[in-house]
Amino acid sequence: MLVAIVGRPNVGKSTLFNRLTGRKRAIVDDQPGVTRDRVYGEIEWGGRTIPVVDTGGYVPHSAERFESAIREQVDIALSDADVVLFVTDVTTGITDIDEEMTQRFRRSDTPVLLVANKADNDERRWAANEMYGLGFDEIYPVSASNGIGTGELLDALLEKLPETEETALDERTGIAVIGRPNVGKSSFINALLGFDRSIVTEISGTTRDAVHSQVEYEGRELTLIDTAGLRKKAKVKENIEFYSALRSERAVREADVCILMVDATVGLENQDVRVFRQAEKHKKGMVLAVNKWDLVEKDTKTAKRYEEYFHRILDRQSHVPIVFTSAVTRQRVYKVLDTALEVADERAKRVSTSTLNDMVQAAVEAHHPPTYRGNYVRIKYATQVRADPPVFAFFCNHPDGVKESYRRYLEGKLRKSFGFDGVPLTLVFKQK
Ligand code: GDP
Ligand code: GDP
Repeated sequence: MLVAIVGRPNVGKSTLFNRLTGRKRAIVDDQPGVTRDRVYGEIEWGGRTIPVVDTGGYVPHSAERFESAIREQVDIALSDADVVLFVTDVTTGITDIDEEMTQRFRRSDTPVLLVANKADNDERRWAANEMYGLGFDEIYPVSASNGIGTGELLDALLEKLPETEETALDERTGIAVIGRPNVGKSSFINALLGFDRSIVTEISGTTRDAVHSQVEYEGRELTLIDTAGLRKKAKVKENIEFYSALRSERAVREADVCILMVDATVGLENQDVRVFRQAEKHKKGMVLAVNKWDLVEKDTKTAKRYEEYFHRILDRQSHVPIVFTSAVTRQRVYKVLDTALEVADERAKRVSTSTLNDMVQAAVEAHHPPTYRGNYVRIKYATQVRADPPVFAFFCNHPDGVKESYRRYLEGKLRKSFGFDGVPLTLVFKQK
């Protein structure tokens, strides 16, 4: 499920995005990473959480590529989003680009809501009627600045959305290969599948046009979610990044385990770290695949040095397994997949209550929680309340007294005793 905000520059897309996602106006910053992080958000409305992307974060600076870029963005949004919010500006009225975008929307089945923005007052709401000229049955006059009309817009949006949030794909294990353009995702998938095509039972463009390959591997049913095939779609540089970011957002949601692929000759970039954060947030398993390992000049300590480098950057996700691979020489391509499956198993693992409590008791004795408002904080017992993804509940007298540092301590102990490599753990503290 995804909503895309589309429109020509300056109509108020990012203002609307901030309004709908409840963010304060982002500080305008020319750093590329900052712009991109602003692009994603979530709308909370009617008891639902709706992921939304603002296409305005990706605007080419050079004027001559501008129109083709916008055209392409519209196509990308149409192919990937479930609903498009097409933003126009009542203070300028209908422009040529608005008309052209409308043409493109007509050719697609994706529902599009026409937003007439900057309708800040009655007079401008009235003026918004001009937008009917684009031929939509309905228009939604709003003011992104002061919030007028956004409730009606969100009600209409909810009606257009699919009923249920898509989750991981049924009982098959969903494995997504994610990474920046050119790190070798397609090559990797081809190396994996091309080696023995017979393991592929079906390749389909099921979810929109993401390529899902149904694979049987070592007696297991897998779905490989390929976020690569984008070069065909996007020709403009900014759009390649936009598209790959959009695709990875979606893939993370669909997967059980994300293989984050990076280029060994480049290292980790902001966007990679963001994908890890995304995976963490959605409680997905993670593997770091360092591709193009054949290009790295190596001695006996190289892998170790690389591991240290990645662990330092990933910091709290240093439990994520790292595999050095080469899609070209096929070195360890199966190891990458095997590791992803191990992570999937870890994510589905259950720890018995008695084993867990033995560990917790020892951990608490070794290092007591700090006192809370003069009271001892006692953790009475713990239990794993769910698996896939794992959630642990700790019952205690003062749940509020368990601070982040102690939570991390317990998480570290859990990992030390039970593994869970590559798996985000959720620890909740409850009153007992
Ligand atoms: P984008 O390029 O489409 O993302 O547009 P921005 O969100 O950056 O907004 C462009 C300009 O329009 C900024 O100066 C905003 O303050 C202004 N703006 C956005 N929404 C509204 C609105 O609802 N009313 C008015 N009066 N101005 C708005
Ligand atoms: P994608 O955009 O992530 O799907 O990347 P591609 O699979 O299209 O690869 C981008 C480029 O990197 C292509 O020229 C590949 O041949 C090259 N490449 C991919 N994997 C490797 C690798 O393991 N080693 C080397 N030397 N080149 C690779």
